[in-house]
Amino acid sequence: MGAGDLLPEVKARLFNNIFICRRCKARIRADPTKVREGKVRCRRCGSKNLRPKKQVISLVGGSSGGK
Ligand SMILES: [Zn+2]
Repeated sequence: MGAGDLLPEVKARLFNNIFICRRCKARIRADPTKVREGKVRCRRCGSKNLRPKKQVISLVGGSSGGK
């Protein structure tokens, strides 16, 4: 019905490909394998110090409801 009906796989892949520069906190979309090999640099500051965006801090509590 629109552009919003992406497959979950696709969405997950999009998120997995996003990294954050540790230096200037810019968002960079790149291939994780390339990042691991050190081929990707921040466009802003040129740092290779990237971390994956997907850093879910799981609040372990298991409370019902919410997100
Ligand atoms: Zn940067």
